[in-house]
Amino acid sequence: MRYSGLKIFTEALTGNKRWGANWRQPTPKDTYDVIIVGAGGHGLATAYYLAKEFDIHDVAVLEKGWLGLGNVGRNTTIIRSNYMLPGNEPFYELSMKLWEGLAQDLNYNAMVSQRGLLNLFHNDPQRDSFIRRGNAMRFAGADAVLLDRDGVQEMYPFFDFDSSRFPIKGGLLQPRGGTARHDAVAWGYARKCDELGVDILQNCEVESLIIEGGTCKGVETAKGSIRANKVAVCVAGSSGHVMAMAGLRLPIESHVMQAFVSEPLKPVLPGVVTFGAGHFYVSQSDKGGLVFGGDIDGYNSYAQRGNLPAIEDVCEGGMAIMPMIGRARILRAWGGTVDMSMDGSPFIDKTDIERLYFNGGWCYGGFKATPASGWCYAYLLANEKPHDVASKFRLNRFKSGHMIDEKGMGAQPNLH
Ligand SMILES: Cc1cc2nc3c(=O)[nH]c(=O)nc-3n(C[C@H](O)[C@H](O)[C@H](O)COP(=O)(O)OP(=O)(O)OC[C@H]3O[C@@H](n4cnc5c(N)ncnc54)[C@H](O)[C@@H]3O)c2cc1C
Repeated sequence: MRYSGLKIFTEALTGNKRWGANWRQPTPKDTYDVIIVGAGGHGLATAYYLAKEFDIHDVAVLEKGWLGLGNVGRNTTIIRSNYMLPGNEPFYELSMKLWEGLAQDLNYNAMVSQRGLLNLFHNDPQRDSFIRRGNAMRFAGADAVLLDRDGVQEMYPFFDFDSSRFPIKGGLLQPRGGTARHDAVAWGYARKCDELGVDILQNCEVESLIIEGGTCKGVETAKGSIRANKVAVCVAGSSGHVMAMAGLRLPIESHVMQAFVSEPLKPVLPGVVTFGAGHFYVSQSDKGGLVFGGDIDGYNSYAQRGNLPAIEDVCEGGMAIMPMIGRARILRAWGGTVDMSMDGSPFIDKTDIERLYFNGGWCYGGFKATPASGWCYAYLLANEKPHDVASKFRLNRFKSGHMIDEKGMGAQPNLH
């Protein structure tokens, strides 16, 4: 079923009776070429690129609940490629390019909106470090523009520029940054996966891994055992739990992080803005709600709900740059379980167990990575070697000392 303007028009005239389901509900087969554990954005994107780019169609994506209920459907939808380090920037720029063509590629409106992402700075050293970041981005082919105070004021006249604690001195703008509709991304990939022959198995939790003689041969699930030539784990906040089934300990902690949506307002925020003196970021959804978030709650947890002190902290950040936000009421708040790696960067790698692969450690920034993560994981599964732009995302980097510590903060998840 292809979507087109003509199809919408004819369905509208004939009572919308011929829209089919977006994906099947297949019965699991006994064996697959590749099993992907986790139907979040990354798992579904991996299955899609495996089928589309590498002609590997005998693939199952196993999901313990319903697809889209993990972090892919819980995030604040920001996409950007404003990284500095060589191990990161080319990867995120590949992702940005894939976002730019995603709706056409999937024939699904992922609502990619390149409305511009502005990181505010509040003092001179911060401006200098943003100049450095902007230059690194431009060297890597990304876009970056340094705005002074007047430049920011032109875009956001209602910010509190003269706050005595956090005066706004300017910002680093990535015009191509913006947002994408998170659940549409999951649905769009799922629909295309299904079209290419991939089985999406919902309510099929992986309960253990079948490992024989140092090789992973499949999984035990809520729906019985399923064998596979390769097993690719991609479970975000559950990474530690699932990889422990193979006896592996990861340099990853699971933390809860919250997001918030205000009541709908008239259009006020043209782009995405981040506060430079604390954790706060905000955009406005097409329905009018301010979508915002901040820091992780700060303790290890698998719970998908958070606590009031973090809410207070996030709202204080918002009030510091745009005091008028204090008059908006929060409509909804929720939490997700984020897979915080110890240097703030992810992994896309083989493990020491034959035919067992791992993708995770996306911290609170993995939504923007979804297309490139899927692409590079599929590349690794198909070619048995890392993709060039993901070649630094190795599990052994903590052994060899090649951490990719973008913020230079060390092993401290709340600072990444
Ligand atoms: C509140 C919040 C805000 C965020 N904001 C942003 C943002 O603005 N920009 C950005 O880039 N990133 C953001 N992120 C991070 C981003 O959402 C995640 O990094 C990314 O979605 C993780 O990848 P995923 O989509 O594959 O994860 P998920 O959607 O969590 O997918 C993992 C799936 O694995 C399944 N699973 C777990 N265990 C098993 C098992 N045993 N068997 C089978 N299935 C299993 C889960 O049910 C889940 O569906 C945010 C995260 C949160 C929580």
